[in-house]
Amino acid sequence: MLDFFTIFSKGGLVLWCFQGVRGPAATAPVNALIRSVLLQERGGNNSFTHEALTLKYKLDNQFELVFVVGFQKILTLTYVDKLIDDVHKEFRDKYRNEFQQKGALGLLNGTFDFKDDFMRLLRDAEESSKVRAPTVMKTFEQSLKSQKTVKCMIETRGEKPKEKVKNKKNKGSKKEGTEAVAAPTKASAGDKQLSAAGEKEELTKDEILQKNREEFFRRHMKAGEKSRSPKPDAQKEKGKKPRVWDLGNSNAKVLDYSNSATNGSAEACPVEEFDPDMALGDKNREPGRLYDLEYESDDEAEEEKVVQNSSKPSVKKGGLGGMFGMLKGLVGSKSLTRGDMDPVLEKMKDHLIAKNVAAEIAVQLCESVAKKLEGKVMGTFTTVTSTVKQALQEALVQILQPQRRVDVLRDVMDAQRHRRPYVITFCGVNGVGKSTNLAKISFWLIENGFSVLIAACDTFRAGAVEQLRTHTRRLNALHPPESHGGRTMVQLYEKGYGKDAAGIAMEAISYARNQGFDVVLVDTAGRMQDNAPLMTALAKLIAVNAPDLVLFVGEALVGNEAVDQLVKFNKALADHSMAQTPRLIDGIVLTKFDTIDDKVGAAISMTYITSKPIVFVGTGQTYCDLRSLNAKAVVAALMKA
Ligand code: GDP
Repeated sequence: MLDFFTIFSKGGLVLWCFQGVRGPAATAPVNALIRSVLLQERGGNNSFTHEALTLKYKLDNQFELVFVVGFQKILTLTYVDKLIDDVHKEFRDKYRNEFQQKGALGLLNGTFDFKDDFMRLLRDAEESSKVRAPTVMKTFEQSLKSQKTVKCMIETRGEKPKEKVKNKKNKGSKKEGTEAVAAPTKASAGDKQLSAAGEKEELTKDEILQKNREEFFRRHMKAGEKSRSPKPDAQKEKGKKPRVWDLGNSNAKVLDYSNSATNGSAEACPVEEFDPDMALGDKNREPGRLYDLEYESDDEAEEEKVVQNSSKPSVKKGGLGGMFGMLKGLVGSKSLTRGDMDPVLEKMKDHLIAKNVAAEIAVQLCESVAKKLEGKVMGTFTTVTSTVKQALQEALVQILQPQRRVDVLRDVMDAQRHRRPYVITFCGVNGVGKSTNLAKISFWLIENGFSVLIAACDTFRAGAVEQLRTHTRRLNALHPPESHGGRTMVQLYEKGYGKDAAGIAMEAISYARNQGFDVVLVDTAGRMQDNAPLMTALAKLIAVNAPDLVLFVGEALVGNEAVDQLVKFNKALADHSMAQTPRLIDGIVLTKFDTIDDKVGAAISMTYITSKPIVFVGTGQTYCDLRSLNAKAVVAALMKA
């Protein structure tokens, strides 16, 4: 019934393999398991499906071994878990000496004659599953209910039994956790942030956003100063103009297109209203460079705090204090057990949830870390806390690092060589920052010497075309044709409102091809992920125009609501596409990152669930506020206490 059972080392050596009679070769499914689960830190669940097969696996972290069994997914084999446990125990006991003494070379030369043992274990496991008697329902007399008296079941109004109150409390706290998964509306997400930050409760939502933004820029500025090469003193004296970070007050005005006087048309917008310095933001940056998201990491201080905290309670509890208490947290040359890790993992899970990581994902992550560490022998001077924390940190970085890297500049150059424009489509719900970030990406592309045609395919929302026209005018003012050899670097392709968006995108692409534009950026109308007709229209736009890159724009501000949007957009594109192999979302633009302080969990949830890379991060309202994701910076913010 089994298709295969294989035992290999984490270094990649296959030590032993059982191949079922008619089963497929183990290579392809096992490779898929390694690529998609083990290397991607998705090991929380010890089961994986690959085509028609279910794979179950177990890690031995002490001897660095992996045990994998494969069988047809339509079968319900109840004995597989037992079999894998038995094989694991027997194999490591039988070859313990080889593993301990000979190292990797020993494994290479070793002969693992395990067939007879395996067949015996398989027979035993199969027998044990057959022998098990069918479960019989309890009679009423055997149930707990029968032992209760009628009196204790009567509830008097207003008087709640203590236990119930307690349960209710727990329920409430659970709800808080799950609310993080699916915040129904933007407002509620904002409210959630409000209540999460206890001390901020009296502030209004705007004040909190403003405060978060200031905090973000304060940190960002510090980190930026640290990482960018120090300028010579002479240059410093010349006077680096201080950055103006209070964007909420000043720059919002600059980019506020709701002003009726502006109304998007060139004539209506007096030149003096447009302050290029404000729209540009940081003037000291290198033009055309996409800076990494930076974050001040007070990691070392944090680490010390965590170690201290973890050792403190043990001193108090044991009442022993002194040297013994200090050493208690250290686990010298001992293999880690689940019991050692559980309290730390519980804390880590709560911490992740508090940072806006979806509750289910926090659980899965901690489970994956536990599986990876269980049985691992610890170094002499390491604490359980620091080991778990480090493993979690590595797992988070791994998740954020994309399986597929999107290098827009390289791909644009490639398209240029083929004399065709590179097409990016932006999609997402209303108000997340599609147009603003499209403008930032235009600015970045122009600074890299590429000409851009913006296709105004949001033919629905009033003001959408005018908003893009204003951006186009401003971008042209910042990069006039004179500084680009007479070439207009950005142009708007629009056909007003109410027309078919897919048709306009198609016309724009062919216009761009004829006029020699390097990139076409297609803005689409915001739509709710549940709106089937609008999602069909988007799928059509994408199917008909076959863009090179489909970017989903999601705001970090709404936390896990953005995850729901992304999952549903992706699914809707698959469901509503008429093509046989539907075109899905390729990457994410995560906007409003400046408004969330260190509650960066949505970034983890989004990439964990969909494996889509975060290609750009929007961190403000000026054209220079575009960043690339720096996994380490996000993880540092996430781990910060
Ligand atoms: P659209 O409806 O998706 O096209 O969204 P808009 O581009 O019109 O943006 C909605 C609002 O979000 C505008 O006020 C933008 O200035 C603001 N916005 C966009 N991106 C960011 C960002 O990264 N940070 C901040 N703080 N605001 C942003």
